[in-house]
Amino acid sequence: MNSSVALGIPTVRSAVPDVSGRPKTPLLTDRFGRIGRDLRVSLTDKCNLRCQYCMPEEGIQALPNDRLLTDDEIVRLIGISLDKLGIEEIRFTGGEPLLRKSLETIVGEAATMTNHLGEKPELSLTTNALGLAKRAQKLKDAGLDRVNISIDSIDRENYAALTRRDRLPDAIEGARVAQEVGLTPVKINAVLMPGVNGDQASPLLAFCLEHGYQLRFIEYMPLGPRGTWKREDMITAEDILEMLQKDFRLTPYGDTVRGTSPAELWRAESDDLPAGDVGIIASVTRPFCGNCDRTRMTADGKIRNCLFGDSEIDLMGMMRDGATDDEIADRWRGAMWIKKAGHGIDDEGFLQPDRPMSAIGG
Ligand code: SAM
Ligand code: SF4
Repeated sequence: MNSSVALGIPTVRSAVPDVSGRPKTPLLTDRFGRIGRDLRVSLTDKCNLRCQYCMPEEGIQALPNDRLLTDDEIVRLIGISLDKLGIEEIRFTGGEPLLRKSLETIVGEAATMTNHLGEKPELSLTTNALGLAKRAQKLKDAGLDRVNISIDSIDRENYAALTRRDRLPDAIEGARVAQEVGLTPVKINAVLMPGVNGDQASPLLAFCLEHGYQLRFIEYMPLGPRGTWKREDMITAEDILEMLQKDFRLTPYGDTVRGTSPAELWRAESDDLPAGDVGIIASVTRPFCGNCDRTRMTADGKIRNCLFGDSEIDLMGMMRDGATDDEIADRWRGAMWIKKAGHGIDDEGFLQPDRPMSAIGG
């Protein structure tokens, strides 16, 4: 079997979740009392980069168009999540969501809706920012609130080695224009891979402080090509802090500002740069599963209650078979009810999910 097939999209494992014991609440609650408020919508599994921690060099077998949710289907599911399930905020992701030409239309439709608080849902985008410079103003006008941009190195050659594409100037320009048009705060996501961009912690923070971006390091998780992640080689949150402390004074904010956010935050100061915040999302070494409020929709209309879970509940099929909004909402509640307590990456016997990150939606 070649690796593009090995990384392809798995079949649906569970068509109807067991909801025995579920309380009568419209919300996306689970057996551990967590409530899903934050919807991650993957708009495509395709990407124009090949980040080593996410995709194999040859890419992955993309979903055929007829297995992708249409714009109308995505908008309908977003409406159901806001009207019936208590979702408050929505993040568009992928693959690379800017590859979806209708992104502005989908954002525009979502921006006309209200959540259960009677407010427009907060709308954000996680992107590699290639081509964002041209679209940022249109996205802002459509109702997008802010962006998270993946830039894992500010050294051009190093970025090209990590992403396998020489596109750093485009990503930097995308971030600049996003800030200019008010898609703020601009957050920069970075994953450090040992032996690839492991020395980029301080240069990235200096770059972000200089430009007023909020940097978030994400611990490297076992979601890319199989066999590339080794627990013992991982650059941990502790390692990142140690590297940063050589160049910056860091003061922890503590749990007061964390809430359901997975990032732990520090105030970063130095003698020659503006002060700013830096975060670390320590998904592996300090998991935050107990506070998780996410529900994920893949580009082919499956609900995943966890990045790492083995359960996928299909909404696209039932929608195409004529299900009503109430029936779809009920199935979605069931999908979240069976969410496990934690992902267990750091446990012995942990099994990597079949889907790679680019096909789940990070
Ligand atoms: N293409 C967009 C981007 O890169 O921002 C959105 C999709 S990407 C899958 C979403 C996020 O997942 C990115 O911030 C990326 O760094 C992160 N990611 C991908 N693979 C990862 C891994 N193995 N471990 C940790 N984070 C990962
Ligand atoms: Fe593409 Fe984002 Fe994955 Fe990089 S992390 S390969 S930009 S989907």
